[in-house]
Amino acid sequence: MKIVVLKFGGTSVGTIEKIKNVADIICIYLKKRYKVIVVSSAMSGVTNELINKSEKISRNFSEAEYDVLVSSGEQIACSLLAGRLIHKGYKSRSWLSWQIPIITKGPYKNSRINQINKNRIIKFLKEGGIPIISGFQGINDQNRITTIGRGGSDASAIMIAKFFRAKRCIIYTDVEGVYTTDPNKLNKAKKIKVISYEEMLEMASLGAKVMQPVSIQDARLNRIDIEVKSSFIKKPGTLITKRSNIINNKIVTGISSTQNDSKVSLIGVKDKPGVAAAIFKPLSRNSINVDMVVQNISANGKETDLTFTIKTEDLKKTKKIIESNRNINFRKLLLKRNVSKISVIGVGMITTPGVTFRMFQTLANKKINIQVISTSEIKISVLIDKKNTKKALIALHKEFKLES
Ligand code: ADP
Ligand code: ASP
Ligand code: MG
Repeated sequence: MKIVVLKFGGTSVGTIEKIKNVADIICIYLKKRYKVIVVSSAMSGVTNELINKSEKISRNFSEAEYDVLVSSGEQIACSLLAGRLIHKGYKSRSWLSWQIPIITKGPYKNSRINQINKNRIIKFLKEGGIPIISGFQGINDQNRITTIGRGGSDASAIMIAKFFRAKRCIIYTDVEGVYTTDPNKLNKAKKIKVISYEEMLEMASLGAKVMQPVSIQDARLNRIDIEVKSSFIKKPGTLITKRSNIINNKIVTGISSTQNDSKVSLIGVKDKPGVAAAIFKPLSRNSINVDMVVQNISANGKETDLTFTIKTEDLKKTKKIIESNRNINFRKLLLKRNVSKISVIGVGMITTPGVTFRMFQTLANKKINIQVISTSEIKISVLIDKKNTKKALIALHKEFKLES
């Protein structure tokens, strides 16, 4: 069977007119004799609305009920899309995860797809049907509904492509593909023709919302090529694939930036073994994700300063946890909202010296102060004041010749 998996994001199914347009895109693949499996997200804005409702009902809303609630947006979009295809004379139906089933493992709100039962969908495809599968959701071994993290329909599509051995997996979205940086933030951003899993994973993890990071891990692990395309403009998109498929002469492939980060500094922490662990253990127990971490070299051998970043939504909780932590001593706690992490990403960095210097010099020329630095083999991240984000993006985009 020549199967193609088509995933439509929230913006692609955001209105009735857009859903009609999606039905027309599906027909193009049917004409090319593909068996089409569709994965749909919720209409844009719906998941956020549901989350708001859960917060209004209770500040401690049950996580299991949260998943039942927030996965319901997908049900609406799937039935509307199936309804449109039926209207056009095709055989189609919606499939919710429990009806297949798509089995997940892990905690509510953040499960991972583990197994997909193929039988019912294969039978339906053989009968000429077009299955419209709800993204973002699954069921666990307790037979309860789960969700797989925000933006999770991307991972649903990739896992469905894996289990059904699809020939192609296409992610339809509201931009023409993956760009050198968010095209909605910088109009000089250029579409990237081909990008490696590793680079895409870094870009996604460091702020490029276009693909969910987990989905890229799944694709990389299972060697699934992903095509990212626009559902509004008929143009070639971006191919996400393995590194050996790519000939690239660029040092830097893309730049990502984050929003809503905050910086936490503990001044005058006792410099002895186990202190960092004592600080981070209660944070991790409370599911607070700590990102960039720096510890100064202790000048007097007794005290040091420790700085790390977190999401601003976790700031209050973090302050409370640190202040009530009896296992640590420090002189002062400094909290700073409105910082942003800018990252340059590219496998070309591995073989090219001087990228770090060029990044720092470019920012210095624009009088942008660097607060924290972290690096890996294929990325350099710096923390700066949020108000300088756009200025930094423009300057770095130019410095690394991403416009041409
Ligand atoms: P969907 O609803 O299709 O899942 P998302 O909103 O999750 O779409 O992702 C698409 C958005 O990702 C774009 O509108 C764009 O603003 C943003 N984005 C961020 N970084 C990038 C990038 N490097 N390339 C393309 N889009 C990006
Ligand atoms: N509807 C879900 C969300 O908004 C999943 C997705 O869009 O992929 O996070
Ligand atoms: Mg998305």
